[in-house]
Amino acid sequence: MSHIATASAQDFEQELPYYEPVGNECALFEQAYQQRLPLLLKGPTGCGKTRFVSHMAAKLGRPLFTVSCHDDLTAADLTGRYLLQGGETRWVDGPLTRAVREGGICYLDEVVEARKDVTVVLHPLTDDRRLLPLERTGELLEAPDDFMLVVSYNPGYQHILKSLKPSTRQRFVAMSFDFPPPKVECEIVARESGLAYDRCAALVNLAASLRAMKGQDLEEGVSTRLLVYCATLINAGMPILDAACATLVEPLSDDQDVQQGLLEAIKATF
Ligand code: ADP
Repeated sequence: MSHIATASAQDFEQELPYYEPVGNECALFEQAYQQRLPLLLKGPTGCGKTRFVSHMAAKLGRPLFTVSCHDDLTAADLTGRYLLQGGETRWVDGPLTRAVREGGICYLDEVVEARKDVTVVLHPLTDDRRLLPLERTGELLEAPDDFMLVVSYNPGYQHILKSLKPSTRQRFVAMSFDFPPPKVECEIVARESGLAYDRCAALVNLAASLRAMKGQDLEEGVSTRLLVYCATLINAGMPILDAACATLVEPLSDDQDVQQGLLEAIKATF
């Protein structure tokens, strides 16, 4: 199972992970769960999709199985495989199979990255049959009512070879995520980093001007995650410019001219 970057079952008695709602996404998630419909989350990296799913899983009291998809990820990584254990060959469920058996939520992050054969296991699970065929064991699992499939992708850095086919995407209820509005983003950054609200507000303002540079030379705008990192370093005592350089310049681009442009915008703010 070494291909799976993250596959975690969250203890559902855990405290609710902090999530600041932006619109009606919590109600929509809950409805999709109750109506047994699969959900597709679209949006840039670091804007709260993963946090949202862990918040909702805890709220609904379901165990969460998260898989970060990558271009080597195959259907067997999700469903399971026979492994040699202590001299014996045993079937070991993958995270998708576990979620189906245990009635949990399976979250496939960046699903477009996965190999093509993954769609073959997702299709029967995402129509009203809600079935997971395990060819290798000969089982045909019927998903219980409390199973839910959630997938996400970032339309921003998609290219033609890696996009969800209409036949796949039209099986999901979908919602778009974006960076939160400034007031909400300040709340989030302050809460996550411990830095005072007004200092976070200055960072969020700065983010707006950095995000405006997207498209010119930048592939992606600065994420809420990076703002949280920046505020965390400042709160720990790092000089603002050093923190900003390490979190809002270096991770965004390797191009010296672009870095210079970002740095100038930062210096103009602080
Ligand atoms: P994504 O899955 O979209 O790449 P994450 O869910 O990992 O992004 O979000 C990155 C970080 O940003 C989180 O760890 C959290 O600190 C913060 N964050 C973003 N949006 C929210 C939100 N609405 N509520 C709480 N935290 C958020």
